[in-house]
Amino acid sequence: MRIKSVEVIPLNIPLVEPFEIAIGKFSFAENVLIKVQLEDGTVGYGEVSSSGIITGDIQSTAIDIVKYISPALVGESIERYRYLIKKLRSIIKFHPGTFAGLENAILDAYTNYIGVPLYKFLGGASYEIESDVTLSITTPEKATETALSYFEKGYHIFKLKVGKDFDEDLKRVLAVSEAVPDCEIRVDANQGYTPKEAVRFINKLYSKDVNITLFEQPVYWKDIQGLKFVTDHSPVPVAADETVFTATDAFNVARERVVDVINIKLAKCGGVLEALDIIAVAKASGLELMIGCMVESNIGLAPSVHLACGTGEFSYIDLDSYLFLKELPLKGGFEVDGPRLIVKNIKKGLGIEESKKEK
Ligand SMILES: [Mg+2]
Repeated sequence: MRIKSVEVIPLNIPLVEPFEIAIGKFSFAENVLIKVQLEDGTVGYGEVSSSGIITGDIQSTAIDIVKYISPALVGESIERYRYLIKKLRSIIKFHPGTFAGLENAILDAYTNYIGVPLYKFLGGASYEIESDVTLSITTPEKATETALSYFEKGYHIFKLKVGKDFDEDLKRVLAVSEAVPDCEIRVDANQGYTPKEAVRFINKLYSKDVNITLFEQPVYWKDIQGLKFVTDHSPVPVAADETVFTATDAFNVARERVVDVINIKLAKCGGVLEALDIIAVAKASGLELMIGCMVESNIGLAPSVHLACGTGEFSYIDLDSYLFLKELPLKGGFEVDGPRLIVKNIKKGLGIEESKKEK
């Protein structure tokens, strides 16, 4: 079945409240919806999350790239999924977030067309996963209040953004840890510490009996030796996020044992195919895997939920961005029960539901 059209629609979604991390502050998700339609009417959806600060993908560029690339897709057979992705890769080498949006739309159209849910297409290992919830950089009081409100909804894994102010970060993590004592705490510095600061920070938390299970991207993304220094001196597993985009990056950190965990984000690696290669590298080298997100709605998160459920290879799940958006443009992709993301009832593709307007 041939591809009939590729549409691109800007999605400007306000956040419930501004979200701050060590490298920036955001109050809007400036995303892009991609809709691939086949000649028989089958549709596939993908979403690009604007994350210029990390991947270089911004809304206007994403729209231009999709428009530029769509003539290469129209008229091609959807059954040749891998060939199509290879062809697109030969045209666009950078902008992985935009690439992931396109690949996800193609994959959704393909699995809708063959009538198989994506998680089953990827292995069907499990029907559900449990996500953490991320707490922005804010006051200890506000972070505690937010943590408690999620705790009441059933969450018991909290990921705190740190890396901006050592003492304030410490106060905030300790306050949250005391407020939700039996919960699991992860910290993500988004490159904000020096290697020595990072080691001091994680050991300090550990010595205070915080139930800390992961330290994500403590130092500057290019500081490979700094990252290794932190891993060698950390009492808890260290994860590479911004340092690892592709399977080649994963191979490089695995070879030198720079970290214990690799955080895969489809918006960094460019889609499910590259993610499968990263999974292979991690498995071959004994590294653990985390799956994360940018500021996608349920449309952009769904392929990650299906990848995690389908492969069953992820030890750390951080797929919570839909919680921070004031509205979701289309329904579906997965069901939600507190922290549980469930794909059991998806009948085909990603399970994104067409809006009434489009019917
Ligand atoms: Mg991160």
